[in-house]
Amino acid sequence: MAYWKEIVEGGWSLVEGMLRRLFQPVVTVQYPRKQLSMSPAYRGHIEFKRFAETGTHRCIACGTCQRTCPSQLIKVQGIKQHAKSPKVATHYIIDYTKCSLCGLCVECCPTQTLKFSTEYQMEGASRWDGVLDLVARLSREKSQS
Ligand code: SF4
Ligand code: SF4
Repeated sequence: MAYWKEIVEGGWSLVEGMLRRLFQPVVTVQYPRKQLSMSPAYRGHIEFKRFAETGTHRCIACGTCQRTCPSQLIKVQGIKQHAKSPKVATHYIIDYTKCSLCGLCVECCPTQTLKFSTEYQMEGASRWDGVLDLVARLSREKSQS
């Protein structure tokens, strides 16, 4: 008798669990057919913010982030258009493969031009695919929009 009771209880437990799951909201995403919307707290690689007043970043190539980065993976270069004008970054290279996402570069930037991206689909066949130029990336985004 105990044997049959155990089978019925086990079967009922299985059906109960399946029914409960059947009426719960779906939490999985049919990736890659559907894309994820990332939380604002998500940290992808760093990237430039685009400011409405200029339509571009505000990097003045001061080098503060480059000096602050504990992994020393940032290289920034800039030029002055005129003697009295501020410097503007022309190249901003990061090696994302070495980034610990610590956020020090974002916090120390005097012009608040850095942020974490919501990129979650980076892949590559070589380690060099993780090397990004943020200036070129921002220009590409502009030409695509
Ligand atoms: S998040 Fe940290 S490790 Fe990554 S680039 Fe910024 S300072 Fe460097
Ligand atoms: S991103 Fe900010 S801290 Fe880094 S070089 Fe540009 S202005 Fe300076």
